[in-house]
Amino acid sequence: MTSAIRAETRRAERRRRIERRRRRAVATVTATLSACVMIVSGALLASGATGSGGDPQAQGVGSASARGATPQTASPTPTPTPTSSPTPSESENDAEFCPGEVADAIESGDSEAVVVVAGGGEAFRDAVVSGRADGCIALDHPAWQWIVVNKRRPIQPENFAPELVEPATYSPIGAHLAPNAADALDEMTRAAQEAGVGDIGLESGYRSYEAQVEAYDAQILARGSEEAADETSARPGYSEHQLGLAADLVACEAGTCGSIYDFEGTPQQQWIAENAAEFGWIVRYTGTETGTTGYESEPWHLRFVGAELATAYVEGGYDTFEDFWGLPAAPDYD
Ligand SMILES: [Zn+2]
Repeated sequence: MTSAIRAETRRAERRRRIERRRRRAVATVTATLSACVMIVSGALLASGATGSGGDPQAQGVGSASARGATPQTASPTPTPTPTSSPTPSESENDAEFCPGEVADAIESGDSEAVVVVAGGGEAFRDAVVSGRADGCIALDHPAWQWIVVNKRRPIQPENFAPELVEPATYSPIGAHLAPNAADALDEMTRAAQEAGVGDIGLESGYRSYEAQVEAYDAQILARGSEEAADETSARPGYSEHQLGLAADLVACEAGTCGSIYDFEGTPQQQWIAENAAEFGWIVRYTGTETGTTGYESEPWHLRFVGAELATAYVEGGYDTFEDFWGLPAAPDYD
C-alpha cells in the first residue's frame, strides 16, 4: 500500500468510527428519555444536579468505587445550590438552543448525545461561547464531559466522585475511569496496537479528593511550603483526575511499562498526539501555553471530552481547553 492509500484508509476508518459514535449517541437519547434518570435542564444543570449541592458528604469517594455504582447524575433529588445557578437569559437566542432536541439529550445524561444534537462539536462550542447555551449548559458541572477544571476553577462540590469502572487497558495500579472515558481509552489503546505502535498503559486515572489531600500534604511536608508543593502537585479539588476523565499514559513493552516521564518521544506518544482526538481525548497540557494552563508540558496527561468536542478542538487548532471555551487564563491559584 502506498502511503497515500494508507492515509485515505485511515481517514475512511475515522469517518466510520465517528459515524458509529453519532448513531450510538442519538440512540442513547431515544432509549433513555422515558427513564428520565436526571433532570438537568435550565438552572439545575449548573447547580446541584449531582444531588449533593447541599450535602457534599452524600457523595464521598466511598460511593463511587465499583462498576455499576449509581452515577452521581442519577440522583432523584437534585438540590440547587443558590450560588452557582446561572441566571436564565431572556434573549431569543437562548430560546432557540436549549429547548427541543437539546433538552431531550440533556435529560438523557449523555454528554456526547447533547453535543451531537446541538450540531456537533464546533456548533456546540459556538453556542456556549456566544452565550446562547447559557440557560442549559454550564462548564462547571462535573457530570458533563465539557467541564473545565483548572487552577481558577475547582471542582464543585469539592469531594465530587464520578461513577467508575476499571478499563481493560493495562494499568499497573489498577486505575479506574468514568465509564465513557474507560471505553474510549480501550478503543484507543486497541487501535494503537493495531497500528503497530505498541502497548499503552494507564499509569493513573481517577484520584479521589481524599487521595489528593494526602498527596498534597505529603508534598508540603517534603518540600517545606505550599508554594513548593504547588510546583509538583495540583491542590486537592483542582485536578481533572478527580473527574474520572483524565488519564496519564505510559508506553509498555512485554508487560513492563515506563514512567510518565519516559512517554515523550515514544512511538506510542507520537501516535497519541496524532490520533487521540478521534477517540475523544485531547492532550491537555502541551507546554506551549503554560501561561494559560499553569502547567508545563505533560504529553502523557490526556483529558476525555468526547469525540465531537475533541475533533472540534483539534480541527480548530486550539492549544488549550480554556481558549476553546473563551475562558480566562488560569496560570495560578487565586
Ligand atoms: Zn495527569
